[in-house]
Amino acid sequence: MKIPLLDLQAQYQEIKLEINAAIAKVLSHQKFIMGPEVAELEFEIAQYCGVKHAVACASGSDAILLSLMAAGVSYGDAVVTTPYTFFATAGAISRLGATPVFVDIDPRTYNIDPNCIEDVFNREGIYKSRITNHKTQIKAIVPVHLYGQMVNMSAVMEIARRYNVVVVEDAAQAIGAEIKGRRAGSIGDFGCFSFFPSKNLGCMGDGGMITINDDVYAEKLRILRVHGSKPKYYHKIIGCNSRLDTIQAAILRVKLRKLDEWTAARQQNALWYDSMFKTTGLLDRHVILPHVVSGARHIYNQYVLRVKERDGLLRHLKDNNIGTEIYYPVPLHLQECFSALGYHVGDLPNAEAATNETLAIPVYPELAEGQRVQVVESIMKYYSSETMVNK
Ligand SMILES: *Cc1c(COP(=O)(O)O)cnc(C)c1O
Repeated sequence: MKIPLLDLQAQYQEIKLEINAAIAKVLSHQKFIMGPEVAELEFEIAQYCGVKHAVACASGSDAILLSLMAAGVSYGDAVVTTPYTFFATAGAISRLGATPVFVDIDPRTYNIDPNCIEDVFNREGIYKSRITNHKTQIKAIVPVHLYGQMVNMSAVMEIARRYNVVVVEDAAQAIGAEIKGRRAGSIGDFGCFSFFPSKNLGCMGDGGMITINDDVYAEKLRILRVHGSKPKYYHKIIGCNSRLDTIQAAILRVKLRKLDEWTAARQQNALWYDSMFKTTGLLDRHVILPHVVSGARHIYNQYVLRVKERDGLLRHLKDNNIGTEIYYPVPLHLQECFSALGYHVGDLPNAEAATNETLAIPVYPELAEGQRVQVVESIMKYYSSETMVNK
């Protein structure tokens, strides 16, 4: 039996009637752009995340881009972020003509290490290019709550306040995640969410949302997403076209009502894996489990194992029809498009090691016990045959 990494079909079958009705309603009122469902969803997401405002946009990537634009990040600025994330995090920084400054991660959580952020700021908030020696002002920090677990935000905020820089939380994988009782997207100046289908709250296409407490930033974001115009056809600033389709908002409102139930199912699956890897002895010999920080609500967008000789296990799982993926195979500081920044292999060792040793296994809410057993048995089989062949 094939086990996918994510089963969107199973999710759709569960809520098909409600989804179809929500779409039909939009088809009947025909307000496809900024229809009533968009503002309703914005209100609900703001409540869910514990913030004052939420502004919908076209994607998680745009959420980061618009936030940095609203914060005034532009050509010649530097922005500190993690190299161990999806490309969009750094892509948004570069698209504004700013320079991403990559700092290493905590090897246990895979999230940006605040001590490494501090090291960059020890040069008094000035970033010096490795190649040109050119100096640029650091304007922002973009921490990423990877796999569904939040960054140590109190440490990040303390640094940000001390150096007077903006914090844009990339919470694309972390809707509903908490640290010390506070939700993802509610601590930094901006919180960026993605509704890409594979996120815990996914739509049926692209979509995104920005959460903010500041009234001025919220207003600026609402203007930026409609080409900087207010009123219509009067352009105060240069923005872009980045709205959430009404149909997607309608779909997301149905799914949001299910989100906590789905998150609980992901957490149960993760706990089950944890205990199973412990009792089978795989834990001590072969795998490192996801590390959950005390006081954190991990929402498990991904359940990521760390193993030696990862690629062999990856091939074995694929050959056995078990969905798996590497998030992410190349750290951003070593991506070809960033070669001009002058990073080399060995510069950020924790991120580099993670790209070589991690892999995700299925943790989606609809995953049945029989399927979980099959995943663990397949991993056990790999290691038992491997030890026989190699030793
Ligand atoms: C998915 C994701 C994004 C981008 O979201 P899109 O909606 O696909 O543009 C950004 N950052 C992280 C960490 C993501 O996982």
